[in-house]
Amino acid sequence: MTAILVESGDPFVVQRNKMVDSQLRERGIHDSRVLEAMSKVPRHEFVAGQFRSQAYEDHPVQIGEGQTISQPYIVARMLEALNLTSSDAVLEIGTGSGYQTALLGEICQSVYSVERRAALAQAAEALLARFGYVNVKIAVGDGTHGMPEKAPFDAIVVSAATPKIPPSLFEQLREGGRMILPVGPSQYQELQLVRKQNGLPEITRLESCRFVPLIGSQGFTLD
Ligand code: SAH
Repeated sequence: MTAILVESGDPFVVQRNKMVDSQLRERGIHDSRVLEAMSKVPRHEFVAGQFRSQAYEDHPVQIGEGQTISQPYIVARMLEALNLTSSDAVLEIGTGSGYQTALLGEICQSVYSVERRAALAQAAEALLARFGYVNVKIAVGDGTHGMPEKAPFDAIVVSAATPKIPPSLFEQLREGGRMILPVGPSQYQELQLVRKQNGLPEITRLESCRFVPLIGSQGFTLD
């Protein structure tokens, strides 16, 4: 949707294309909007400097403050499951590095993202501004409350593990809207796709996963 500057001579372009082919296409990701966005967004810009060479590898990578950017396949799986379209308004909880926020900014019309760690939110905001994402807004705070003033959302993506579906987030989903989130104990979760049908959650269980905890009043309580 917005233009990102992929600098000419980007040294990671070969690794990025390889990631898209071998980690995503070959494992069954087929949503062209997701594949295009992941071919375009320079993932190496979003990881901590000393981990840059690992940015396109098949595992999560450190982004600072003890947090991680998810494995590329998991990011793709979550975005594909949401079946996003260009007119969607999306809420993301757990901005982290801003990588997934950039992907959402490529695919959707408007993106709101909440991060509880101010330093991460500021770094992500600066990067996203540098890449020209004018359709993305970042807020600092406990994202388990969502962003009621911008609701309802067509889609919500939660990038941190939660013991249960935060009720405020479900409430802020429009009728027919989709939410994806890792649900379970802190060591191990399953990805759940939640659709709001006649005001009720319809849950589809996808694969198992492991995320850092969602810490907040409707998530985990300990830091
Ligand atoms: N999608 C991110 C990865 C995020 S890691 C990326 O592409 O880089 C999970 C993030 O959720 C961490 O940055 C963590 O600080 C944040 N987080 C944890 N609890 C939160 C809460 N209650 N509200 C908002 N952000 C939260």
